Amino acid sequence: MPKYDLLLKGGRVLDPSQDLDCVCDVAVTKGVITGMAPDLSWTDAGRAIDVSGTIVMPGLVDFHTHAYWGVCEYGVDPDLTFLPRGTTTILDVGSAGAITLPGFRHYVVERSRTRIKALLHVNTAGMTHSVGELIGLQYLDPERTAAVAKENADLIVGIKVRLSRNVAGENDWQAFQAARKAAELAGIPLMVHFGSSFTPLAQVLDAMRPGDILTHCFSGRANNIMDEKGRLLPEVWAAVRRGVNVDVGHGMGSFNFDTASAALKQGLLPTTISSDLHAYSQPYPVIDLLTVMSKFVYVLGLPLGEVVRRATAVPAQLLGLADVAGSLRVGAPADVAVVRELAGQFELWDADKNSRLSPNLLTPFLTLRAGEVF
Ligand SMILES: [Zn+2]
Repeated sequence: MPKYDLLLKGGRVLDPSQDLDCVCDVAVTKGVITGMAPDLSWTDAGRAIDVSGTIVMPGLVDFHTHAYWGVCEYGVDPDLTFLPRGTTTILDVGSAGAITLPGFRHYVVERSRTRIKALLHVNTAGMTHSVGELIGLQYLDPERTAAVAKENADLIVGIKVRLSRNVAGENDWQAFQAARKAAELAGIPLMVHFGSSFTPLAQVLDAMRPGDILTHCFSGRANNIMDEKGRLLPEVWAAVRRGVNVDVGHGMGSFNFDTASAALKQGLLPTTISSDLHAYSQPYPVIDLLTVMSKFVYVLGLPLGEVVRRATAVPAQLLGLADVAGSLRVGAPADVAVVRELAGQFELWDADKNSRLSPNLLTPFLTLRAGEVF
């Protein structure tokens, strides 16, 4: 019997959870990482793949996705969408509400190879697209939302609310307060989607608590994190100091190169770098999380290791999954993203139709999920 089922030979292993950046072989046995060393022998492995010239990262953890395919209009099929593109763990952010969660668990979470955690929408019918889910508030029910979140604590890690004008109209403050209440009753964080909202962002930020998440943080839309002179709002700094997390959530309307660049220059780093990949954003401009990460590395100039950390170890920890995701340490499930760094000229687009030329692009080569090759 070979010692290992699978050997990934000769890649650059980049694992911020272990402060590791080296050319190393990675061995996998029974779906678990069982070895990492510069020269593991081919002859000890049932199968070996030459990954020299690639970057071997922990399977990506995407902190903002929509995966309730066939029920929520935004939903994509997780296994078809994420696993071939380096992402092995996702957070679905509020596709389901208290009424529709059982279907999400049964038809999506339990049947997917992708590891899934979710936020529960404070709208009990979940998220909708054609008509914003909070234009009417008939389905707003913080008590029921909190109760269902508690009953499903293995899956639900937070509450979600969307506050843009097309989603909530002028109801956004009322919806926010209901979501705030649900999160408090359930004792879990709240994720706030922001952009072109009715209520000023400063008012919302002041009501956010440590552990809460502001998503779409680098939106270029009206009422964003900047004042009219392009300086970060003092309320943003106050929230970050209190322990509020800021998440990228690129999507189709919520990432602007100028906002991101100005925020980074003023010292605001996103806690998590996520895609907001959904049925409408995936074809353009998101494509996948690696493309979003490429914008931060090659256009905005963040170090690759810091970008990988914010798409692996940090979100894994926020999801309570640090033991099983976001790391290549020996003993962890073999969730691995093998990534190529292409060189050339690549036109990368933000969500406001601005493009930048990039000399490099991260693209998927292969993914392992619990040792299985995709
Ligand atoms: Zn989203």
